[in-house]
Amino acid sequence: MAQSASNRKVLVLPGDGIGPEIMGEVMRVVEFFDKRRIASFDIKQGLVGGSAYDASGTPLTDATLAEAMSSDAVLFGSVGGPKWETLPFELQPERGLLRLRKEMDLFANLRPAVVFEALADASALKRDLVAGLDLMIVRELTGGIYFGDPRGVETLPDGTKRGINTEVYTEAEIERVLRAGFELARKRQHRLTEVDKANVMESGLLWREVARRVAADYPDVELSFMYADNCAMQLVRAPKQFDVIVTSNLFGDILSDCAAMLTGSLGMLPSASLGAADASGRRRALYEPVHGSAPDIAGKGVANPLACILSFAMMLRYSFDLAEEADLVENAVRQTLAAGIRTGDIAGTSDTRATTKQMGDVVLKELEKAA
Ligand code: NAD
Repeated sequence: MAQSASNRKVLVLPGDGIGPEIMGEVMRVVEFFDKRRIASFDIKQGLVGGSAYDASGTPLTDATLAEAMSSDAVLFGSVGGPKWETLPFELQPERGLLRLRKEMDLFANLRPAVVFEALADASALKRDLVAGLDLMIVRELTGGIYFGDPRGVETLPDGTKRGINTEVYTEAEIERVLRAGFELARKRQHRLTEVDKANVMESGLLWREVARRVAADYPDVELSFMYADNCAMQLVRAPKQFDVIVTSNLFGDILSDCAAMLTGSLGMLPSASLGAADASGRRRALYEPVHGSAPDIAGKGVANPLACILSFAMMLRYSFDLAEEADLVENAVRQTLAAGIRTGDIAGTSDTRATTKQMGDVVLKELEKAA
């Protein structure tokens, strides 16, 4: 049973650079859904990043953070730009996003790699390897070697230096990200690959132990294991073998960028970051395109809005269980591409280049046709 608008509190944070331009196209889809009574949302808008700094001297105010914490989902554009590069570290636009991730305890980062038929030739791999690709990488986002202690660079008695970082994972940290992965697999093809380096790292052995235990609660999902180096190789050799990959922060960072390139363009890649589920099953969640604020094209109205529109579709699917509505949006994107509409980032040399608004127009037209 679909929720009413009052139960779907969404905080929209367009951010800087192309953020407001691409988010503008998402808002047109939201308005269309509302007008056609497909789905409604209780939307609030806020500032984040450089625009928040300009308005209030901080990249994320406490009031905006509180709004995010009490929302069902945050829809985020992008932050950053040359104007704010010389600010002290703690006032940099990106600190706004990092604070949101930390305070909302978003520990599972979802990066889908989907190849749309019309863009199969944009991939670095041969068409037959990637056509129809649809995989999801779930990266643990708040633990592991990026946060583990001891860390630092120390000087040894002989005057030479030693750099140290530590991979640390508790059972609880492993379990919660694996459960998020198993839940996702249930909404997809029911296959989950746990990726680690259990052949050389004890923490990897613990990941496997926990995965086997948790898998007992998901008998409908097939669990397999793979070493991270092999996974990198398999992603470029035969990526269609994967459904959901769950892995640590470090391996996920690398493997998700590798998978992203299978799809060809940064302007097409959505992502989600999920937190823990509360007693009612509600998870904190933030949805955002993978790309940044693209200062080189900001203000020109030529950015590709599809990654942001696809992030909205992920929100429909994973925060609000609106699978049909998510399909509607994803199909409209598919049809837009099939109709040959291309912004500069995905245009071939002979293609006419659409503006952000023109691409949004066609997505809306396709939604009209299908709704
Ligand atoms: P970027 O992703 O902003 O841009 C890289 C290249 O891709 C640029 O040439 C840009 O024009 C192009 N591009 C990106 N998104 C596009 C789109 N939707 N349509 C068309 N072309 C697109 O990365 P960058 O140049 O390394 O960083 C620029 C700024 O963004 C920096 O301040 C950086 O810190 C910030 N950044 C923010 C985020 C975020 O908000 N999550 C992520 C990455 C970078």
